[in-house]
Amino acid sequence: MPNYQLLNYIGGEWKRSSASEMLDVINPATAQTIATVALSPAAEVDEAVQKAQTAYNGWRATPVGDRIQPLFRLKMLLEEHLDEIARTITEECGKTYKESIGEMRRGIENVEVACGAPILMQGYNNEDIASGIDEHMIRQPLGVVAAITPFNFPGMIPLWFLPYAVATGNCFILKPSEKVPMTTQKLFGLIEKAGFPAGVLQLVNGGAETVNTLLDHPLVRAISFVGSTPVAKYVYSRATANGKRAQCQGGAKNPTVIMPDADLETSTRIMADSAFGCAGQRCLASSVAITVGNARAPFLEQMSDIASSRKVGYGLDAATEMGPVINAKSKERIEGLIAKGEAEGAQVIVDGRQKKVQGYEDGYWVFPTILDNVHPDSSLAHTEIFGPVLSLMHAQTVDEAIALVNNRAFGNMACIFTASGAVARQFRYGADAGNIGINIGVAAPMAFFPFSGWNESFFGDLHAQSRHGVEFYTQTKVVVERWPKEWSRQF
Ligand code: NAD
Repeated sequence: MPNYQLLNYIGGEWKRSSASEMLDVINPATAQTIATVALSPAAEVDEAVQKAQTAYNGWRATPVGDRIQPLFRLKMLLEEHLDEIARTITEECGKTYKESIGEMRRGIENVEVACGAPILMQGYNNEDIASGIDEHMIRQPLGVVAAITPFNFPGMIPLWFLPYAVATGNCFILKPSEKVPMTTQKLFGLIEKAGFPAGVLQLVNGGAETVNTLLDHPLVRAISFVGSTPVAKYVYSRATANGKRAQCQGGAKNPTVIMPDADLETSTRIMADSAFGCAGQRCLASSVAITVGNARAPFLEQMSDIASSRKVGYGLDAATEMGPVINAKSKERIEGLIAKGEAEGAQVIVDGRQKKVQGYEDGYWVFPTILDNVHPDSSLAHTEIFGPVLSLMHAQTVDEAIALVNNRAFGNMACIFTASGAVARQFRYGADAGNIGINIGVAAPMAFFPFSGWNESFFGDLHAQSRHGVEFYTQTKVVVERWPKEWSRQF
């Protein structure tokens, strides 16, 4: 793939940024530069906001049934270009081609659900709230809204927001991760073909300063964010201090309990996919396994076998089961955290550090790693590693296991493997997390449910996707009305 400068998409036109600062986009399997991306300056963000604001009144007044027509076309275009987009995701993000396809399926699902906007954004009403007086609640769009997205799902995460925002009548600005901006370039190529009016959707590449301009811009009414917890907290504080709505999804450290009655073969296989899939770079990766009672020894043995035999390599090679991590800094950080865990008393049972893949020696490889006896109060137990590293803890009872699950600040996901309905119910009831998996390894909500992170994994109240997305991107207006007969001409 040639090395080229990625463009912004503003007011229906592709524009080369005049930024003085550019970054390389690097294929993490080969360490080669495949594109360059601009850190767009404030003036370009402002231009995008102004174009969106100009388009807003016309778009808002477009009937909702007409607003969803370009989304139907986008869905078809995404299907037609699935292979090309998935390859781009793998090239810039590192995950396997199969994982990239899976990611796009979940993204497309959101486009489909947002096509239900004519029903999803309906209000409600009552006649005769007092004699002869009626009351209605209607939903109106906010205006210009923006989303800031992370590196690990470059195709799916923008689609958690974009379809709902525009279906409900807003104009939208996307600031994708500067580490993986090529996928969104392709996505906007399809958006252009789908026939949205100019200004309804804009793409502005950039980094922290680009984000700050959006957070401070008086015409931007709402901010959707997905990324690490420190940045989520920062974005939430700054956006809300500026009077904007904000929904900010942060990092995670997801525990999974393995009960002694769980089907061991199934649960280890599913757990391995959760812990090592996408090289552990999923906010819904199960990164802590808590075995209960005598599940401990057989789980450790089987998990170690799966971890050490996982085929690591370039995501476009058909045999590859796990790709590289995103960049050199991330590899260094993950390997440093494994060493820290060791220093805090954990044992490295399977060690994925300092590995190479033949033919791709320069790639950012961390192989599956298992740390046993991670102390629940160690700093590692509370740090998001965001790599293919599974920490093991052990408990004697389900109560003890649930206490370990709840001993963390994050609350993105918690899972349990068991054959007991009563234990599953106790877990579902008591686990302090917003996405729960029962005999499931990655409890990723379908597009018609909210992505319900809690605690340090989410700042805000309305989540991404589905009805929450529609509520987030609309404001309610209540109309109380009286029409006395005697005021009207009598016919
Ligand atoms: P990140 O926080 O580094 O970056 C996310 C976005 O914020 C990017 O667009 C980036 O340009 C911008 N950004 C970074 N630093 C900033 C700053 N100081 N000021 C303003 N903007 C800034 O996250 P990442 O490394 O791209 O993604 C990985 C993280 O995202 C992990 O912590 C992961 O758990 C989390 N994540 C969470 C979810 C979820 O649903 N909760 C989903 C996916 C990823």
